[in-house]
Amino acid sequence: MHELSYPWSDHVPQGVSREVAPGVRWVTMPMGGSLTHINLYLLEDFDGWYVVDTGLNNKETLDLWHDVFRTELGGKPVKGVICTHMHPDHIGLAKAITDEYRCPLYMTRAEYYQARSFSGSAGSHHHSAWLGQQFYTRAGMPLEYLQKLAEMWSKRSSDGMTMGEMPSGYQRLEDGDILSIGGRDWRIAVGEGHSPEHACLYCHELKVMCSGDQILPVITSNVSVHPTEPDANPLKVWMESHDKFLRTPDDTLILPAHNRPFHGVRARLRQLIDHHDDRMLAIEEACVEPQIARDLLPVLFSRQLDPRQTMMALGEAIAHLHLLMYRNRIERTLHADGQYRFRSIDPSLARRRHPHAGPSEVPEVV
Ligand SMILES: [Zn+2]
Repeated sequence: MHELSYPWSDHVPQGVSREVAPGVRWVTMPMGGSLTHINLYLLEDFDGWYVVDTGLNNKETLDLWHDVFRTELGGKPVKGVICTHMHPDHIGLAKAITDEYRCPLYMTRAEYYQARSFSGSAGSHHHSAWLGQQFYTRAGMPLEYLQKLAEMWSKRSSDGMTMGEMPSGYQRLEDGDILSIGGRDWRIAVGEGHSPEHACLYCHELKVMCSGDQILPVITSNVSVHPTEPDANPLKVWMESHDKFLRTPDDTLILPAHNRPFHGVRARLRQLIDHHDDRMLAIEEACVEPQIARDLLPVLFSRQLDPRQTMMALGEAIAHLHLLMYRNRIERTLHADGQYRFRSIDPSLARRRHPHAGPSEVPEVV
């Protein structure tokens, strides 16, 4: 199996860009937390540029964009903003940039409408509703945790991590659509699991893919069940998307939203598939004795988790449990204390057990 290789040893300094393929430029913008930055890309057309993802909705990022627009675009305007998915680091400035240039926003339908439903004041209190309480109670979390979550959400609105306002219209992207940019075809490839209908952009001629958060090197994208859809099975479609993206030619340069551009897409996808299979097996092993979701966090994550990381980790643990339930390997029962207990029921588990079942990395907010 090929290893991953990184053609550039450093990130682009903020406020400038770097050509990574003909007509494709790489830009970075700041982010809080352990991720430190997001990668954004510029695609050159004959009469302007497409911006792929926008960075967070704050003044620092907007000022940096203005530096880029002034010095890096060769005097041509932005003619479209393409957002891979609806997370705040990707769509934060979609409205500001499309308003400034009066250009369209391109997104898939599920991402656009989910972003609109979470944008502004509509999205900030959903975790304190009874659905959220029931969700976290069933996962074994105490009421004090819900209070901590509410504090966290109010703080997030001040650091740019909540949804800003969205443009009131968009142009829809669908799987298989072709965007002709600079005389080259860019095909939309949709993946699911990290977000509902995540768009990647693939150019066969250049052997380049803008992969957003769908394919990342180094860190694993968050795949979570949320109170808004408590019985969702996002890991199932995440794994299916990995199988689909395994068809990507191995000499493709992957331009991810975090970490650095890399070669070795198939090796990376196989690592990620193995990672989740491994974690599911560890959960099955833990659930030989019935477990609540909260008590499975140490099986998945070794480090101490703050309230936000706990939320991501719980969502991930539940996502793994739901796929195991779908595969008839785990059974779930609701107990009188309001908590779900999960129990392994697959007789082949004893045969499948493996020795290397250590916990892995802290969940990242991407
Ligand atoms: Zn994301």
